[in-house]
Amino acid sequence: MSQISAEQIAFDQQHIWHPYSSMINPPPAYPVVSASGVRLTLSDGRELIDGMASWWSVIHGYGNPALNDAAHQQIDRMSHVMFGGLTHEPAIELSRKLVELTAPPLQKVFIADSGSVAVEVALKMAIQYWHARGQASKHKLITIRNGYHGDTFGAMSVCDPVNGMHEIFTGILPKHFFAPAPQCGFADSWNPEDIAELSAMMEQHQDEIAALILEPIVQGAGGMRFYSPEYLRQARELCDRFNILLIADEIATGFGRSGELFACDHAGIVPDILCLGKALTGGYMTLAATLTTTEIGETISRGGAGCFMHGPTFMGNPLACAVANTSLQLLIDSDWRSNVQRIEAGLKAGLAPARELDSVAEVRCLGAIGVIEMKEPVVNSEIQPLFIERGLWVRPFGKLVYVMPPYVMNDDDLSQLTTGMVDAIKTYRG
Ligand SMILES: *Cc1c(COP(=O)(O)O)cnc(C)c1O
Repeated sequence: MSQISAEQIAFDQQHIWHPYSSMINPPPAYPVVSASGVRLTLSDGRELIDGMASWWSVIHGYGNPALNDAAHQQIDRMSHVMFGGLTHEPAIELSRKLVELTAPPLQKVFIADSGSVAVEVALKMAIQYWHARGQASKHKLITIRNGYHGDTFGAMSVCDPVNGMHEIFTGILPKHFFAPAPQCGFADSWNPEDIAELSAMMEQHQDEIAALILEPIVQGAGGMRFYSPEYLRQARELCDRFNILLIADEIATGFGRSGELFACDHAGIVPDILCLGKALTGGYMTLAATLTTTEIGETISRGGAGCFMHGPTFMGNPLACAVANTSLQLLIDSDWRSNVQRIEAGLKAGLAPARELDSVAEVRCLGAIGVIEMKEPVVNSEIQPLFIERGLWVRPFGKLVYVMPPYVMNDDDLSQLTTGMVDAIKTYRG
């Protein structure tokens, strides 16, 4: 097994940005040399049970034989070829699966290279749609607070202006409309007041607003909040009433994570534009997709530009598409629903004891997502070693200590994960 040297770690610290990291004395990153199933192996040989699924994406586990095989076969045939004027089977078969798996109105697929790009594409589609219909004044967006949609400029402009990690850019981002975040939790009884302000804003500004963008049911990086399906149902109705498109950002929730194949299914609604990413390739490499309806696709194409104005260099990358195609097949062939229910039950039972701790504000679980919300933010450099000591990989942010395990995690590993999380928090802050 290859080792990572102290010199290499020092180089990393001095020269390499990690996500949201500092260039002044960053805590050293843990060196990983391999990963298999639900375990990461560190350079010193320690094994960690991965609670993060590499940020929602590794649903079938690391080193999955079918995904490895798909990658090997495709790389021997062709790793990449430009998508302008050319096409290939991996993109065709992946898109066919996406059209089949998602709601019937979603027929047109744009294959993007990351989640943030899929969001940029969705925003541009919405704006180009109204432009093509002669309503160019409809170019603003509306969203709900506590959202997270990515780190690029368009995506940042619809992230929570305070929680969304991009406060510094507030002054130079385009100004969009922010309604309060839903307050009714997933299973709470419905309070019509919850959506009153969104409704009023949409009514008042309908001539300026192209689309409502939100994360259906689960708000991820902006707070790990689960909200009422009734909110989503009514948001869909408001969009219809005020001629505003609905963009569902299912980059985190897609492919079973919340207990339904797509979080929109909890409310039985269909968005006009759908963003997918993260778990799309089973966590093997970056790939995302934006789907829309025939009407939107054709309207955009009839507009002055005559086409949709986007086309990244690595669009439709065959290697990523081949792996994604196999990952979706694995998901379809598996009993993912009962598996996610099994994990939900394990998370609920295993994290419940955290409710007794004084430092804990709330414990909540939905699908294969478990969240312990602390009363005060945790310091990663202090709490992370406590997880590592217990053989776990958990990466909190702010007040949120949360996990979304690979769907293949067995009950023993899950129980070790939840017990260790509660124990680490108890040791950290009681
Ligand atoms: C992660 C995420 C994104 C951004 O995806 P990247 O691949 O990191 O660019 C966008 N929206 C949601 C809901 C996400 O969870």
